[in-house]
Amino acid sequence: MEGYIHSVQSFSTLDGPGIRSVVFMAGCPLRCVYCHNPDTWTMTNLPKTEPSDLVGRLCRFIPYIKRGGVTFSGGEPLLQAEFISECTDALHEKGLKVAVDTCGNVYNSQVAKLLDNIDMALLDIKFTTEEDYRRHTGGSLKSTLDFMGELESRGIRTWIRHVVVPGLNDDAQDIERLKRIIEPYKVIEKTELLPFRKLCVEKYEKLGVKLRLADTPELTEERLKELEAVLYGD
Ligand code: SF4
Repeated sequence: MEGYIHSVQSFSTLDGPGIRSVVFMAGCPLRCVYCHNPDTWTMTNLPKTEPSDLVGRLCRFIPYIKRGGVTFSGGEPLLQAEFISECTDALHEKGLKVAVDTCGNVYNSQVAKLLDNIDMALLDIKFTTEEDYRRHTGGSLKSTLDFMGELESRGIRTWIRHVVVPGLNDDAQDIERLKRIIEPYKVIEKTELLPFRKLCVEKYEKLGVKLRLADTPELTEERLKELEAVLYGD
């Protein structure tokens, strides 16, 4: 099964433990207001890639990523779960660990099969009420939490990420809700708050797509620290 790949980042220290290569898969069913990668939303105009070609490329980095691994990100990688499953089998044979970085809004039999095989997940919990989640992403908090349940039942180590946007989800109540949401899950090792940034403005301009948060300020370091205190405090 061939896949649509937007790009590959050789080395990252932000997308899972250790030094990792990150594969940005093309295609996403959501339209988050703060999306940094609108250029990954569609699969059109991209060549198809064979799993063996991608794995061959990734294997060149084995000396650097053998303790980290490979993270499939996007876009939404689970739209191409079958392709990633094939890649995962081949990467495991080479001794590399595999993570997926997902919004948890795609679930079907191919995703279930992939989850039986991956080593870890990075899961975005984008908003903490169903209403906010739907309004600002087009997706569903319930789907994300159902997905979280799948990770929990399989014992898949998980890191949670939550982008904080001034005026949308930056009050203490939001973070208290996030804390309550993640509390029951034993597989969650780490939860990170990521500050809203506008480094993506040029990408939107190039695509001719309106950045709906163009007038929203970036989250300050000071506010981030205050919210981290809410999240990590007793
Ligand atoms: S799920 Fe990720 S790639 Fe898709 S729109 Fe949201 S932030 Fe962008």
